[in-house]
Amino acid sequence: MFQNFHIDHLENFPKELDALLNQQRTVIDTITHSSESSYEKVLKPLQDLDEELGIFFTPLSHLNSVMNSKETQKAYEDSLPLLSKFSSEMAQNVALFEKIEKITAASQEEKTVITHDVRDFVLSGINLPKEEKKRLEAISLQLSELSNQFSQNLLDATNAYELIIENEEDVSGLPESDKEAAKEEIEGKTIYKFTLQMPSYLAYMTYGNNRAYRKELSKAYASRAPKNANVIDEILALKNEKAQILGFKSYAHYALETRDASKETDVTEFLHALADAALPQAKNELEALKAFALKLDNINDLAGHDVAYYSEKLKKEKFQFDDTMTKPYFEQSKVLHGLLEIVSELFNVRFEATDVPTWHTCVKAFDIYEEKKLSGRIYFDLEARKEKRGGAWMHDWETHYTDAKGEQHLASAFIVCNFSAATETSPSLLRHDDVVTLFHEMGHGIHHLFGKCQERSVSGINGVAWDVVEFPSQFLENFAYEPAILKRFGFHHETQESISNTLMAKIKETKNYQAALGILRQVEFSLFDFQLHQANYQGEEVQTLLNTIRKKTALLPVPEYNKFQHGFAHIFAGGYAAGYYSYKWAEVLSADAFFSCLDENSGFNKEAAKGYKEHILANGGAKEMSTLYQEWIGRKAEVKSLIKLYEIS
Ligand SMILES: [Zn+2]
Repeated sequence: MFQNFHIDHLENFPKELDALLNQQRTVIDTITHSSESSYEKVLKPLQDLDEELGIFFTPLSHLNSVMNSKETQKAYEDSLPLLSKFSSEMAQNVALFEKIEKITAASQEEKTVITHDVRDFVLSGINLPKEEKKRLEAISLQLSELSNQFSQNLLDATNAYELIIENEEDVSGLPESDKEAAKEEIEGKTIYKFTLQMPSYLAYMTYGNNRAYRKELSKAYASRAPKNANVIDEILALKNEKAQILGFKSYAHYALETRDASKETDVTEFLHALADAALPQAKNELEALKAFALKLDNINDLAGHDVAYYSEKLKKEKFQFDDTMTKPYFEQSKVLHGLLEIVSELFNVRFEATDVPTWHTCVKAFDIYEEKKLSGRIYFDLEARKEKRGGAWMHDWETHYTDAKGEQHLASAFIVCNFSAATETSPSLLRHDDVVTLFHEMGHGIHHLFGKCQERSVSGINGVAWDVVEFPSQFLENFAYEPAILKRFGFHHETQESISNTLMAKIKETKNYQAALGILRQVEFSLFDFQLHQANYQGEEVQTLLNTIRKKTALLPVPEYNKFQHGFAHIFAGGYAAGYYSYKWAEVLSADAFFSCLDENSGFNKEAAKGYKEHILANGGAKEMSTLYQEWIGRKAEVKSLIKLYEIS
């Protein structure tokens, strides 16, 4: 039924992959050259090839992330060029495109599969004359070099700076661990070194009591990588050109072609509505901070470089609360057990531990049953180790669908986190943030595992638009702040005493501390990113655009040396161009869905959860998410739900 996780000879992997790809090329060739033109004879077997490739390759990419070694790296690096060559061949297969374009669909799912396939062919330029295809190729090559250059400039600038503090008094407010990290002995003298690398930079900005040093650090940070100004111009011009070759008026317009948001105004109006809703409270939050800084240190001109510092101090005074107070209540095994129990009740499924091959002894695998029928498998690999890359993620392996032979496949997925392991004196204990992370990844997991589609390309998380993939994860994450949920697994690991109402209330309050200011910041980034891709902004126009947006979103004056854009790697070196808005876009859906499923007494409303499962999770990417949402709730998700989630008045 399910695949067994194993890779026997890593050194042979690329060779085996190459053989598999060649075998697939033959199958594709046969399909392309046959007279067959039905969905069953063309798109079914093509999806089987995708599944076959995914099943084969996922264990390697997974292993490379969770059990990294020289061998996995080599196998992985040698495999990537094979895969990218194969996928660009596929994207430029004109005969296949013409065949798929003519296929008629017999169901909604089939229709979406065809629409997506045709769309992707068109977006890779299949319809264009030869010269323009060549130009597109050259543009993507240049763009990948430029984004690399952007990161490199940023990295060089980040590493080129250091601040040396000699007086211990100036680091007296830092937590011991940050102080230790900064400490160095030079010629018998103790000094403290701070850099622009995140942990070091943040430590001083948050806890450093010398205002002049904060200003200096902040200035160095905000004026990094001036060379990136030119890189930005080139990137923006090329993206704009690419979009226009493909027939779109701007890159933003092009990007929306594959997104849930349909019009540019949908995005910009949404972001403005969000800013408007957050503004009044954001002003109050800032006033409170100013008053606090005045009272505490007689500061009457609070600046950007003071915000993190006084925010932390005010937070401490207000809540008298930190991680160490809740940690003893969140024992890893109990939290996982509690989560599975909640998901079982909420969605009427059952998890049964299963003894199957995995990649590490700490991995726990479960089979999932729905109405007594086996329906999926999930693996949890939750603890940090040196062979694992940082962060947390869900990785899908097998997919729920029906293949060309009519056989039913079931889905499987891996949940990976980096929680601290048990020690000699204590079991593995989670910070509340970790609990939230586990819920988040499980949200992605069930999106994939509870998919019920028959077509692989739209089943589970497949075919789901990029700006809504975080909806199911954020949805589940929201429950991790609810007392009715936390109570179910929050027991002190020594005394078994239940987590108190006071602590649970503090978890929620601290989450919403300065929430409105946080929203304004996100709106600023999102609007800047999106508008920047709506036309070909060059040179000073980039700064002018940012200044215009800041008139609404920045409540404190921003110094002229601040060139935030030179470090905005998400959009210039990552995949977020014209897509930064997605974080908030998906959050509105998740907040709205959350309130529809929340029951303050038991934690959740089972009837509503059933609807969420049947409409949202089961349908994967078969329809646009906003359509699925509308079908489930009977209306659009509302911005005010997000405002309510952050308890903004
Ligand atoms: Zn996520």
